[in-house]
Amino acid sequence: MLHNSFLITNKNLKVKLNKSQQATLSDLFKRFKTGSYIYPGMLIREMNIEMRVAYEILGLLKESGFLQELYEIYCPHESKSTGLIYDNLLDLVTDDQVKYCPECGQEVDIKKNNILIYKLLKQVNIEYE
Ligand SMILES: [Zn+2]
Repeated sequence: MLHNSFLITNKNLKVKLNKSQQATLSDLFKRFKTGSYIYPGMLIREMNIEMRVAYEILGLLKESGFLQELYEIYCPHESKSTGLIYDNLLDLVTDDQVKYCPECGQEVDIKKNNILIYKLLKQVNIEYE
C-alpha cells in the first residue's frame, strides 16, 4: 500500500458503497488539491449517499490525518458562505456570537449558522478491500 493510500473496508465503514460510489469517491479525492476545502454536500450529491454516510467517510479520513475539520459560517439570508472559517469549535464558541455578513450586511448568529467542512491536508488515494 502506498503511503498516501487509504483503504476503506467493511470494518472501518459500516455502510457498504457500491462500485459506482466507490469509483466516484476515489475520483473526487484525486481531483482535490492539498489545501482545498471539502464539503459534505459534494459527496452527498456526487455519490448519492446520505449526509450521515458522508460525514462517516470524512471522519475516517480525518482520523487518519488526511483531513482537518473546519467550521464555516454561512449567511442564513443568502444561504452562502460568509468566507469566515474557524479552525476549531472552541475558537467559534468563544468568539462574538453575532457577526455581519460581508455581502448583505445582515446579522449572522455564528453558533447557529455554521457547517462542518474539511480541508485536505495531504492527497489521498482511496482504495477498497
Ligand atoms: Zn448575507
